[in-house]
Amino acid sequence: MIIDCHGHYTTAPKALENWRNQQVANLKTPELGPKVSDLQISDDELIESIEKNQLAKMKERGSDLTIFSPRASFMAHHIGDFNTSATWAAICNELCARVSKLFPDNFIAAAMLPQSPGVDPKTSIPELEKCIKEFGMVGINLNPDPSGGHWREPPLSDKHWYPIYEKMVEYEIPAMIHVSTSCNDCFHTTGAHYLNADTTAFMQCLTSDLFKDFPSLKFLIPHGGGAVPYHWGRFRGLAQELKKPLLDEHLLNNIFFDTCVYHQPGIDLLTTVIPVKNILFASEMIGAVRGIDPQTGHYFDDTKRYIESSNILTEPERIQIYEKNARHVFPRLDRVLSNKGL
Ligand SMILES: [Zn+2]
Repeated sequence: MIIDCHGHYTTAPKALENWRNQQVANLKTPELGPKVSDLQISDDELIESIEKNQLAKMKERGSDLTIFSPRASFMAHHIGDFNTSATWAAICNELCARVSKLFPDNFIAAAMLPQSPGVDPKTSIPELEKCIKEFGMVGINLNPDPSGGHWREPPLSDKHWYPIYEKMVEYEIPAMIHVSTSCNDCFHTTGAHYLNADTTAFMQCLTSDLFKDFPSLKFLIPHGGGAVPYHWGRFRGLAQELKKPLLDEHLLNNIFFDTCVYHQPGIDLLTTVIPVKNILFASEMIGAVRGIDPQTGHYFDDTKRYIESSNILTEPERIQIYEKNARHVFPRLDRVLSNKGL
């Protein structure tokens, strides 16, 4: 079984974006709408948006199941206040839950949180609990920078975030550490802000003792871990200077990386440097990079090709990356699959 642990609903019907545009236009006058009930998207529209896009590509490329969360760049937690985010997150999460219900064999949902800059993360817990208990979601996306590129929240190791971690441990759900749109012109959203955030999140964990407080907490750092695998020597050296344990022991029971790296040398580096047990298959398809690589003639984000072509990975290691590690990091997903006899 091939599990893609990083998919977003980037192809949602246009009505969703129109609703959001209206919400943003009326930030100062929310009484003018739109109401949640103004957004009407039928099952047929959802089915069409998935069958023609993600599902078609999954069949073409040969993956089976995608962990599916709301479009990351659309989370835009920096817009409006908590109520803005709460309404928006509820709408986006419900759509992903509906997709997973319509395609139970191919999609399982993960939640975005209704974060808002300067607002206590505790306020995200009701939405988190609803997504887990009512919708059967298996993970969350946690934005370490709801300001959208200005980094005004405390680091992930700060007690500020602990209420979320307590719930993650209680419900056995991992968090993908995933920022959203950059509203800082210095940082391009997917080319700089995402990768910076991946690297930043790792370093915040490295300098702290977060996982001593939460030994079973699991973070998935997307986009191949940003600059982390490439600079592994730097991080090992910094950990040594900071008198931290070896990274294997200090971070690698808790931090995992996905394979959203869009060329063979990058995947080869990732799988050479990072232990296979810490790597989960992912493509983030129909996402940041949608074109075809002229050097290979294949889509940049067809990451399965790189795993297949690897001279570094053995067959059992491929299976670990495709399935076993995802089932370890997402215990609720593992239980759903086990209950189906998979
Ligand atoms: Zn993503």
